[in-house]
Amino acid sequence: MSGAVILFVSALWIRWSIHNKKKSSGIPEGLILYSDLNVPAAPLFSGRYRLTGKPDYILRKENKCIPVEVKSGKGSHPHQSQVLQLAAYCQILEDTSGVFVPEGILVYNNVPYTIHFDPKLRFELESVMKTMRASLRSGVIKRNHHEPGRCHHCSMRQYCTDIIEDSS
Ligand code: SF4
Repeated sequence: MSGAVILFVSALWIRWSIHNKKKSSGIPEGLILYSDLNVPAAPLFSGRYRLTGKPDYILRKENKCIPVEVKSGKGSHPHQSQVLQLAAYCQILEDTSGVFVPEGILVYNNVPYTIHFDPKLRFELESVMKTMRASLRSGVIKRNHHEPGRCHHCSMRQYCTDIIEDSS
């Protein structure tokens, strides 16, 4: 197979698998502008807030750009930390595109939740970022939970000095 044919086939495969993933995971319809699903995408960066991140998708729907993050987990509703992660993606997308981002979508256990990026959530995000930056400057970073499972799956566990070991 020539290189061009291989590229064409892999592009078709990516489109097909994204389409199937969308159908099976409750992601609303819309034009996909960005996906970190099959091929790792370049991270987006907000110079204003010095924030970087990669949402699972960016959808274009009714002239809006909407970040989408897909999660699974215990419980029936998204966790607040996931809402804040999505809020950070909304902020990054707004800063990189220069266009107002009114909401994002959190698909939690195959159910889509529209999260409004409203003044309250913007304020909360900013206040969490301020707290995190102050902790980083002071060099004292305290754990904010008592859940061994979170530490068990945490990508920072090799660097963390406040880890809870899972005793089960
Ligand atoms: S390993 Fe450290 S950074 Fe990760 S969840 Fe546990 S306490 Fe937090």
